Amino acid sequence: MSRLAPKKPSLCSDGPLTDEVCQTLSVFREILKSCYGPCGRLKLIHNNRGGRVQTTSSSAVLLNGVPLSHPVLKLLAASVMNHVSRFSDCGLFAAILGCTLIENTQRLNMASSSVIKIYRQLLNLSIAYLNSEDCSCRVKVDFKSSQTLLALARTVIASKPACMLTFKEGEYISSMVLKAFLRTVPCTVGPNACLGKVVIVPIEGNIAQDTAVLSGLLVEMPEALPLSNIKRLSSSCINVAVFNVSMSGDLSDAADGTVEISCTVSPEAAILEQLLRVGKQMVSERVGLLVCQKVVHPVLKQYLQEQHVIVVDRLGSALMEPLVQMTGAQSVASYQSAIPSNCYGLLKDLCVVSFGSKELLHLIPGEDSTVCSLVLCNRNETTLSELKIACQTAEDVLRLSLTKPFALLGGGCTETHLASYIRSKCTNRIEDVLSDLACSYTEYQLAVDSFCRSLESLARSLEHDGGESLVDLSHGHRWFVQASSPLDSYWKDLVNSCGCGLFEKHQSLDWAILGDKYPSLTPGADCSQFEETTPDLFVLDSFPAKINALQIAVETANLILDLKYIIQDVN
Ligand SMILES: [Zn+2]
Repeated sequence: MSRLAPKKPSLCSDGPLTDEVCQTLSVFREILKSCYGPCGRLKLIHNNRGGRVQTTSSSAVLLNGVPLSHPVLKLLAASVMNHVSRFSDCGLFAAILGCTLIENTQRLNMASSSVIKIYRQLLNLSIAYLNSEDCSCRVKVDFKSSQTLLALARTVIASKPACMLTFKEGEYISSMVLKAFLRTVPCTVGPNACLGKVVIVPIEGNIAQDTAVLSGLLVEMPEALPLSNIKRLSSSCINVAVFNVSMSGDLSDAADGTVEISCTVSPEAAILEQLLRVGKQMVSERVGLLVCQKVVHPVLKQYLQEQHVIVVDRLGSALMEPLVQMTGAQSVASYQSAIPSNCYGLLKDLCVVSFGSKELLHLIPGEDSTVCSLVLCNRNETTLSELKIACQTAEDVLRLSLTKPFALLGGGCTETHLASYIRSKCTNRIEDVLSDLACSYTEYQLAVDSFCRSLESLARSLEHDGGESLVDLSHGHRWFVQASSPLDSYWKDLVNSCGCGLFEKHQSLDWAILGDKYPSLTPGADCSQFEETTPDLFVLDSFPAKINALQIAVETANLILDLKYIIQDVN
């Protein structure tokens, strides 16, 4: 007999940002910060529900895999996960900036309502600047050349060290992701033009340089497929029938429709008869390939194979959309009546391909198809799983560049540059701003400093080996000095190029330590020089993803700073 316990009242806590919560937030930030960037440290995640151990530095895996207890952390993680589900990239950027803003604000000793208003104004100022023509930390994506697109893909792949790629492998994978993405762009633009799809097929055990892009889809080899069936089909175009309903013959899977049974006939036999009738229709209409999302009855399978029709079943829902898009077939949802002949799609060819010990059936579409497969290889399960996330993110970033054809400078240069821009904009002639925000000059400067320090701290988070981050006093970019550098040398003897790779050191540049006070500068290098000197290893971030991450970070931090009570059900 179970024991009944009286329901406990909900717990209401006042002023949720206590010292204890701030400390938890700080630990959370340190965990995320240590994963940030190409040199980020990896995390091993193993939860007590079992499953495999994951090695990662990706925000999506970390935030999904690490159980969070406090509602404030859950709120922050939920905002970031929502951002990642829409934009794929810059999850760690949003999470670290959100935590840092909250922590820096707690040290200000100012009313949170005033700080929130100032942060909101600074966010608007930042977004307006990043979207303006004058912005010198963004570049236009040039679709006439592959350079900026490749830089976008490379930056994402390089920022995931758990993929364990060498430099050469990283370059190769980036070019393969770009190649796959370009195949999804239709050649002709019309009212119904839409992007195709890249399907990632992970192959474990091969080296990364075995990765390849193939047009069309790769599916599991059907069991006991006679090779003669494929050879027989290969001479001409292949009619394809696609079913999204189970053809297993189970009554529970028979979908909509009526089954008429006389009392002398068993239901199973009646359904099998219907299935075979559909099979005969397909044979008479010269269908060469039947693909079913679910299971096909073994008797129907055998009958079709004897009639030289290839049967692929258990395709799964994920591949249905690209298959329909690629073949032009309409998926059939019932086999109780005859199949309309306009439901069939077409394939150009079929063949068997091998990757390592794995054999796959390659469904080859016509010339203008926008569906392709990225066969992704890496040495083991862990590195392959992280590489799959990295490639999906890179492809999403490339797709986003079509909606807004800009990229932001990476390597901490955008954050550093933006901080120096805000500092220079918020020093003089701000009387109107102060009266709008109803705060004093000192309060405003404190909040501006907190906002800018949060951005600079994010840029410094890219360094994990004790090196120093610098800012140049002409362009406001981030530069890096190694930890072992002699302290009595000049900065110009220790640096080479800035984080994004755009600027090389030269005589007229001067530097200061990033995070210390440095003389005010008005960054505004004209963007025209970008076109002339695009560096080979340009580091570029997705413009839409970073702008949204900035917005999410500031808005979530403001929301958390604004919390007065937390009410929790403790039953
Ligand atoms: Zn730079």
